[in-house]
Amino acid sequence: MNVAKRRILVVEDEPTIAEILVDYLRHAGFTPRHLDNGRDALEAIRANPPDLVVLDIMLPGLDGMTVCREVRKFSAVPIIMVTARVEEIDRLMGLGVGADDYVCKPFSPREVVARVTTVLRRIGHGGDPMIPPLLEIDDDAQRISISGERLDLTPTEFRLLRLLSSRPGRIYSRAQILDLAYMEDQDVSDRIIDSHIKNIRKKIAAALPGVDLIHSVYGVGYRFEV
Ligand code: CA
Repeated sequence: MNVAKRRILVVEDEPTIAEILVDYLRHAGFTPRHLDNGRDALEAIRANPPDLVVLDIMLPGLDGMTVCREVRKFSAVPIIMVTARVEEIDRLMGLGVGADDYVCKPFSPREVVARVTTVLRRIGHGGDPMIPPLLEIDDDAQRISISGERLDLTPTEFRLLRLLSSRPGRIYSRAQILDLAYMEDQDVSDRIIDSHIKNIRKKIAAALPGVDLIHSVYGVGYRFEV
């Protein structure tokens, strides 16, 4: 198959971090490219726009914020900004520099890959087969992997997560979950469902720190959303 993979430009001046990110992105099925300064990044984006940019803020020469602002004058390419300080995210959002998402250092490379996938899907490449799925479900083996990391799920947890993730955005009540995920226990209470969900969340958080995929909807039930 010779279809172009999604091209991700990583702009990062710390070589170790850049190398890890590039490795993880390649492993996840993207085509990454790395540049170590803002000026080259701006030129590269202008000359040959990638599908997404992971942009560090603290860069020599042109900083990430300036690059983002400049890019927005001519391109809507999705940009994920990388900051070293959590407090900076609020400030940046307030300034409206035009980034699509923010990641804070230190990050897990898997988290960044998940964000890249999520942003690409959100901005409309939804059905694009060239974007690797965040969740891979193997029904035969009853396994679910998230960004390439296999989750160690019990059979009940597998069915629950499979059900919730089959219709992202849809809210399932506990009664529906009970019916549709055919729990084996005869007298399953709401609390048991809650505890299964809690365990699935823990396992997802262990595989992908900072990523929350199952949301409680107060008084109603649960919803899966990336
Ligand atoms: Ca930096």
